[in-house]
Amino acid sequence: MIPILTESMEDYMEIIYRLSEEKGYVRAVDISELLNVQASSVTRMIRKLDEAGFVKYERYRNISLTPLGARYGRFLAWRDDTLKRFLRMLNADMGVDEQVEGIEHYITPDTMRLISNLLTYFTSSPGRLDELASLRECSECPLDENLRELRAWEFRHHTDDA
Ligand code: CA
Repeated sequence: MIPILTESMEDYMEIIYRLSEEKGYVRAVDISELLNVQASSVTRMIRKLDEAGFVKYERYRNISLTPLGARYGRFLAWRDDTLKRFLRMLNADMGVDEQVEGIEHYITPDTMRLISNLLTYFTSSPGRLDELASLRECSECPLDENLRELRAWEFRHHTDDA
């Protein structure tokens, strides 16, 4: 059975994958810096990921991905990159990185494939992008100035901090 990942586990897996690709090794201290979390939280999470079969972890050693972990991590990093590229292609003008941190945990892999195809479709010919840009001004979206900040995500993350 495929282990179920929480949002936080997905964030860790993505970072662990990126670190192992970039540096060839993964240290808890790097994870803790990149995710801005305490070393003790990293240790706890790494143990969980070890139990779930995603990483191998021994005390005082580097962390390594299992083949399963590498497969997941590769997908999670691709998902993050693709969503960011997608929103930037659309000229999303506010908090792309932050929006993706929310969207990525909810979107299904099949929808990701569709978005990736759409991205390919628009970026493979500049004329298509120009056409898309011309639609921006005549959108039918019922959005006014007062609604620009509307996002439940904002609320959730504010209460989390409090
Ligand atoms: Ca991410």
